[in-house]
Amino acid sequence: MSSLPEKLAQGGSEGLGAGAATAWPLWLAVALAALAAIVALAVLLHQRQSGQQLHRRLRSATTQIDALRSRDSLTGLLTRAEIETALDEAVLACDRGTRRLSLLVVALDNFRPINEGYGLRVGDAVLTQVAGRLSACVGDKPLAARLAGDEFLLLVEGGLDLAGKTAERVLLSVQQPLKVEGLELTLTASVGIAVYPEHGSRPKLMSHAALAMRSVKLGGGAAYAHFDPTMAVDLREQAELLQDLRGAVERGQLKLYYQPKIDARSLQITGAEALLRWQHPQRGMVSPAVFIPLAERHGLIRRIGAWVIEEACRQAAEWRQQGLRMRVAVNLSGHQLRQDDLVEQIQHSIRRHDIRPERLTVEITESVAMEDTAHTRAAFNGLRRAGLHVSIDDFGTGTSSLASLRKLPAAELKIDRAFVTDLATSAEARSIAGAIVQMAHNLNLRVVAEGVENETQRDLLVGLGCDELQGYLFAKPMTPVALALWAEDDGSAGHGQFRPSLFDPTQAAPLDV
Ligand code: C2E
Ligand code: CA
Ligand code: CA
Repeated sequence: MSSLPEKLAQGGSEGLGAGAATAWPLWLAVALAALAAIVALAVLLHQRQSGQQLHRRLRSATTQIDALRSRDSLTGLLTRAEIETALDEAVLACDRGTRRLSLLVVALDNFRPINEGYGLRVGDAVLTQVAGRLSACVGDKPLAARLAGDEFLLLVEGGLDLAGKTAERVLLSVQQPLKVEGLELTLTASVGIAVYPEHGSRPKLMSHAALAMRSVKLGGGAAYAHFDPTMAVDLREQAELLQDLRGAVERGQLKLYYQPKIDARSLQITGAEALLRWQHPQRGMVSPAVFIPLAERHGLIRRIGAWVIEEACRQAAEWRQQGLRMRVAVNLSGHQLRQDDLVEQIQHSIRRHDIRPERLTVEITESVAMEDTAHTRAAFNGLRRAGLHVSIDDFGTGTSSLASLRKLPAAELKIDRAFVTDLATSAEARSIAGAIVQMAHNLNLRVVAEGVENETQRDLLVGLGCDELQGYLFAKPMTPVALALWAEDDGSAGHGQFRPSLFDPTQAAPLDV
């Protein structure tokens, strides 16, 4: 029996007049062509097969045509339900022969900011164009479906070799700039592969391909990976990680590393951002990108967040005693903003360590800051009344309007690393970064550019008027001792003297807003 892909490929334009083909959507034309082919097949079979067999085949053909009729309305690809049916068929065909079958789950890495930043119309147009490219990637026996949002599934008749080649084509094709409504957008994708039968039974196949895709995403995206049995323990591993995380604060396994912020013109230190690290006894250093979402999902973030605030204040006091003057910044999670006693908790820590409130920066991501809920508004007002230095983090990825930004009591805005990374190569990134700086300055906000990795980026950012810079070009996040050594002036001032700080008591402190 031929598989659905074969039927689609065989269907061609048989039985369709040119007029019908141009006036009707392509999928409907293909569906009708397939129906015609199947009916012709049925007539042939009729001469040789029993009435019962014929009835079964016709029923299956009708089911297939029904599936074709209800394609994903946005992209014209199959829907999840339809690809499941096709997958059943394809697996049966594999079981009867020696053929292999591969599933590729494709997820866009950076679709959300596009959807949120440019609106749903642009988002939809992007998805439609990507869908067209994916269909083109799977060759002459294509089966492509949209699973959900920005996730797609491709079915390829072949083993790992062919799946890998297809994945490479997909990655290259998605990376080509997209032109949508006068914008030029560049996306990347993460691709997970599961091959039948070696990577799992039929019921597991799709989730195994999705697990492989997620492991690519965790590693930074823009790549493909095939399923590996160790990925199947993912959920169990998460449960174990969560179990360990519950005791991490008490066991002293959490540490704060600090990354300096530098004044763009004078190169004086203006601050240090506290970045959380988990020193796990078996796993080594676990990234906050892994455990913070886990902590947020399972209600541990408030406890961890409270520890971060207290520890950062303690460290700020210690540095001040050593003569190193700067702001210290902590990152606040959206969950902490919903915490009734957040401001009290911060005030408690700053008082205990005698920190001036304007010397403590609280970094809140743009997407959280713009949540227009009673809780976020109350938290922002509370932070302002407490005199803290509020910074809007990852700016440019969300949907802020000038009007909404004006309402926030922020003093600093951090341009997201994505724009900084693309500065040298993308005129669009340069114009966005330039517009952000101008807008922020109009609102009396200082602008910090993060993720500055090279001198080209630094020079462009200084040219655009950024006030402060942060990134590997200057220093990676480091232990408090390393930061003090780094900040130590190795010039004539001698041991114990630090690089000049904007907060030096002999100078005016222009950042105290
Ligand atoms: P973020 O707040 O945007 O922090 C900046 C991230 O970029 C840090 O990753 C930093 O190490 C990295 N980075 C800095 N300079 C460069 C550069 O030049 N190039 C590149 N490629 N990366 C650079 P990290 O430390 O892994 O933190 C990741 C995220 O985890 C942070 O993003 C923040 O959202 C979250 N996070 C870290 N510490 C805390 C915390 O104490 N509380 C909360 N709620 N979130 C935290
Ligand atoms: Ca931050
Ligand atoms: Ca950031």
